[in-house]
Amino acid sequence: MYTLRSPVSDISGVGPSTLRKLSRLGVHAVINLLSYFPIRHDDLRHVTSVVKLHSNETSVLRGRLQLITSRRGFRRRRMSITEGLFADGTGTIRIVWFNQPYLAKQYKAGDKVFLVGKITAGAYGQQMQSPLIERVSDERILAGRIVPVYRATAGLSQRQIRTLIRSVLPLAEKVTDWMPPEIRKRERLMSLPAAIREIHFPTSLIKVSQARGRLKFGELLPFILSSVIDDRRRYDERAPIVSLQTEEIKTFVTSLPFTLTNDQRRAAWEILKDLSESHPMYRLLEGDVGSGKTIVAAIALLNVGLNNLQGALLAPTDILARQHYVTLKRTIGSRMPLALLTRTQSEWTMKERATKIKILSLLKKREITLVVGTHSLLSPKVEIPNLGMVVIDEQHRFGVEQRRLLRQKGEGVIPHLLSMTATPIPRTLALTLYGNLKQSFLKSLPPGRVPISTRVVFPSDEKTIFRHIHERAANDEQSYIVCPLIEESDEFGTAAATTEFERLKSGPLSSLRLELLHGDLTSKEKQRVLAAFRNRSCDVLVTTPIIEVGVDVPNATVMVIEGAERFGLAQLHQLRGRVGRSAKPSHCFLMTESDSADVQERLLLLEKSNDGFALAEEDLRRRGPGDLLGLRQSGLPQFMMASLSDIELMKRVRSVAELILESDPALERSPLLMKKVEAIVNTIHGE
Ligand code: ADP
Ligand code: MG
Repeated sequence: MYTLRSPVSDISGVGPSTLRKLSRLGVHAVINLLSYFPIRHDDLRHVTSVVKLHSNETSVLRGRLQLITSRRGFRRRRMSITEGLFADGTGTIRIVWFNQPYLAKQYKAGDKVFLVGKITAGAYGQQMQSPLIERVSDERILAGRIVPVYRATAGLSQRQIRTLIRSVLPLAEKVTDWMPPEIRKRERLMSLPAAIREIHFPTSLIKVSQARGRLKFGELLPFILSSVIDDRRRYDERAPIVSLQTEEIKTFVTSLPFTLTNDQRRAAWEILKDLSESHPMYRLLEGDVGSGKTIVAAIALLNVGLNNLQGALLAPTDILARQHYVTLKRTIGSRMPLALLTRTQSEWTMKERATKIKILSLLKKREITLVVGTHSLLSPKVEIPNLGMVVIDEQHRFGVEQRRLLRQKGEGVIPHLLSMTATPIPRTLALTLYGNLKQSFLKSLPPGRVPISTRVVFPSDEKTIFRHIHERAANDEQSYIVCPLIEESDEFGTAAATTEFERLKSGPLSSLRLELLHGDLTSKEKQRVLAAFRNRSCDVLVTTPIIEVGVDVPNATVMVIEGAERFGLAQLHQLRGRVGRSAKPSHCFLMTESDSADVQERLLLLEKSNDGFALAEEDLRRRGPGDLLGLRQSGLPQFMMASLSDIELMKRVRSVAELILESDPALERSPLLMKKVEAIVNTIHGE
C-alpha cells in the first residue's frame, strides 16, 4: 500500500517510461498526482445514437462492435491502422485508430462498448477517428460520467492519467485540509479531500464548480496573504532617501538627442518622487516595446548616482544586459563609473576572471556606481554596500519575490525597486494581486515611428517574402526570421532554427549574408552574431524566439515569424516590436500553415492592432494553450486552477487575507496556513 508521499513508481503499472513522462509534468509523488487538476470537464452523461450524431461534437455512443482488425499502413509502413465497425440499432459507423494495434487484441466483434469521440468526414464517408472505447461491463471512467480533461500531458494519454489518478483517489481522504475551519465555514468552501475527489471524479456539475471554487481559493489565499504581509512590512522598512538633483537632471534631459514624450516625463517624475521618500519604492513601469523605458530608468539611476548611492540594472539575458550597458554607457556613462557583470562566478572563463573579480572589488569599495547584469547580481556574493535602487527589466517575476531578495541584500535599508515590463497588466489585476505595487505607464510611442504593417501569410507566399527581404537588403536594411520550437525534444528551438538556416543559406537567400542565433550558442558566439547584425555585416538573422526580449537594432525593418500559430498574441507582439524602431517603414509577416478559423482570427488581430495593451487584454481573455506562452512571460504568477481573469474572486480572497491578519498578524493560530505561505516564499528562493 502506498501513502501520499510514496513515489508514483510504487503504483502498479507505472514503468520507467511512464515515470519519465510523469516527472516531466512535475508529478513525482502520489500527492502530486492528486494535485494534478484537470483544466476542464466534458459532460459525457448523455448517450446519443448513430443517427443523431453531429459532426465535430464529442458524443457518447453505446452499442456493439461488429468488426475490429488491425493492419499496417500502405504508404507509411510504420503506422498501424486499426479499423472497426460499430452499430447501435439506429445505424452503423466506421471507426479508425492509428498506432493502437493492441485494441484489436483487447476487443473483439460482438463486444458491447461505449465509444466517445467526434465524427468526421473520412475517405469512405463518415467515420469516428480515434474514439475512446470502453466495455459496457467494465467499471466505467468515461461514458455516463462528467469526465476530467487534463493539460497537455507529455505523451501520456488522458486515459492513462485518469486511470492513475483513479487508483490513488482513495488517498484524497488523507490530504490535510490546511484551510482554517472558520474561513472554510464562512466562505462555504468544500473540504480539500472532497474537492480533490470531485475535481477528478465529479458526481455533479454543481459539485465540480464548488470543487473548482475551493481549489482556486486555496491557490490564491497563500499567494495573496504573502503579498498582504509584504505590504504591511513595507511600512516599517526604510530606504535610502534619494533627493532630486533638479539642475543636473534637467541638464541631462536637455542633452539627449531627442525630446522625452509626455508619458516618459510623467513616469520619470513619479519615480523620482518615490525615490525621495524614506520607504522603499515598489513600482512597475509598463510600456509597449519601443516606448522608451530604458531612458526613464537611466534618469532615475543617474539621480541615484548623483546622491552618491549605487544602482543596479538587471536584465533577463546576457544579450540584453550587454545592450543596456552600451546604452547607459552612451547616455550617463560620462557622468559616473559603470560596469557590466554577467553570469555567476562559477561560469566565468579563465580569461575574464581577473576583470570580473576586479569589478566585484570595486563595487564593494563603492568605486563603481552603476552595475548592469543579469539576475545573478542579486546573489549574496555580489556586494553592493551602497545600493540605492535596483531596476529590473523584463523579468519573469517581479514584485514581492524580488523584494524579498532585496531585503536580504540591503543591510538595514532596502533599496528602491523599479520593475519594467512590456506586458500591460491592468491596474485592477495588479492591485488585487500585489496591493501596494504602483504603476507608471508609457502609452504613447516616441514620435516619428511609422506603424509596422503586419500580414498573415502562408508558406506558399514565401517567394514574395524573400523578394521583399532581398529588396530591403539592397536598401541596406535588415531582416529577422524567427523559427518556433517545433518538437518538445527541441527544447530551445535550436534544431528548427538550424535546419531553417541551412535551407535558406543554401537556397532562397543564398546571395545574402545570413547569421544564426539560438540559445545553445556560447555567450561569446551570441555576442559575435549580434555584433555582426548590429554593425550591418549581416542581412538576415535566423533565430529562435530568444531575440524576443529587447534586442534593439533600429536598422532592421523586416520580421518574419514562422509557425506564428505557436505563439501567444503578447509574444507575437513582442517579437514584432524588434522592427519599427526607426523612421523607416517596417513589415511583419506572420507565417502559418494553419487555416483553422481560430488561428486565422487570432493572427488577424495583429494585422489590425499595433496596441500591445489591447492585445494583452485579448490574450488574457482567450487564454488558449498557445497564449500561455505569452502569459508566462508576463511575470504574473501562474495558477493551475485560478485564472488571471478571476478578479472578483481575488478581491474576495484579499479581503479574507486582510481579515485573517487583522486578528492574527503572524498567523500563529493557523500554522498550516503559515506553512503554505512559507512554501510560496521557498519556491521563489528555490529558483
Ligand atoms: P523599450 O521600452 O522597448 O525598452 P527602449 O528603451 O529600448 O524601448 O527604446 C526604444 C528606442 O527608442 C531606443 O532606440 C531609444 O533610444 C529610443 N527612444 C526612447 N525615447 C525616445 C524619444 N522620446 N524620442 C525618440 N526616440 C526615443
Ligand atoms: Mg527594453
